[in-house]
Amino acid sequence: MTPLPSGVLEHIVDSHCHPTDAPSISAASMQQLQITVCAMSTHSKDQSLVRELAQTYPSKIIPCFGHHPWFSHFITTNAGVAKHEHYHRLFQPTEELYPAFEDLLPHLPEPVLLDDILVDLRSNFASCSSPPMLGEVGIDAIFKVPYDYHATPRRISPFMIPLEHQLTVLEAQIDIAVEFGASVSFHSVKCPQATLELFDRLKRKHEENWNNIRFDIHSCSMSPETLVQLQRKHANVWMSVSTTINGRSRNLRPLIAACAVDKLLIESDYDAIEQSTPKCLEILDIVAEVKGWHIETDWDDGDENGAVHRLEANWKVFSATQTRTTE
Ligand SMILES: [Zn+2]
Repeated sequence: MTPLPSGVLEHIVDSHCHPTDAPSISAASMQQLQITVCAMSTHSKDQSLVRELAQTYPSKIIPCFGHHPWFSHFITTNAGVAKHEHYHRLFQPTEELYPAFEDLLPHLPEPVLLDDILVDLRSNFASCSSPPMLGEVGIDAIFKVPYDYHATPRRISPFMIPLEHQLTVLEAQIDIAVEFGASVSFHSVKCPQATLELFDRLKRKHEENWNNIRFDIHSCSMSPETLVQLQRKHANVWMSVSTTINGRSRNLRPLIAACAVDKLLIESDYDAIEQSTPKCLEILDIVAEVKGWHIETDWDDGDENGAVHRLEANWKVFSATQTRTTE
């Protein structure tokens, strides 16, 4: 891995990580951080952690507010619904799976109303001086709800969150991103067709405001063909890759090769903040090699064709806030 001087590091952006998930987040670890990171939130409890982190380190942290599809079952669209009824409607346990359902229920929180989530999201967006992002949000076709998310090993229940429910939660959050012209860190796992259909539907729905927001398909696990199709149809789709998630995938290099040169970003997708920089440098090496870019060792000598210059330029276009056209 190429060691880089701080003059180059300060131009690197980790477009997706979860620093508030790890205990190592501290004044000392933040002090050492020389790159900029996009700190994701994922459920009701970590939105304020991300907000506070960004308020403390505004030059290093880009706050990302949103509810992850893995936690979307905590959210209900029915005001006043009882906990049991909410999860029962969502998971529709068969008689055979009923014991598993009963087992899972005590581990699940009281559902929170989607409208309340949206009020909170809007106020977090409005509270930021620098433009926040929406993230991590998205859809996932293979995730099964664990009994206890934080337990190791994680015991997995047989229940999946219906895609339709994930889409309801997602689209309501995207509406707010459109309202604020915010960029989106997007999780799409094993649902290429649903993702393509969603983007087509959103484009029709948001009309001229559609191009005001940008999507980063993070730790992209799509086939290169699907990515190309998505980027050809939608000029507002970027892609980022990480060694954490994509490292062992045989699709990684073909995916980087297929991605539009100006729509490529890098990320660590890591929780521990001290891993953000080394993980970004790992994927930077791979991206540079596949795209045939050199990596700058001195920012001032670097030209605009260097990998870090190019990725920074991509990031600047991706993250620029747009003004909404009101009808
Ligand atoms: Zn993530």
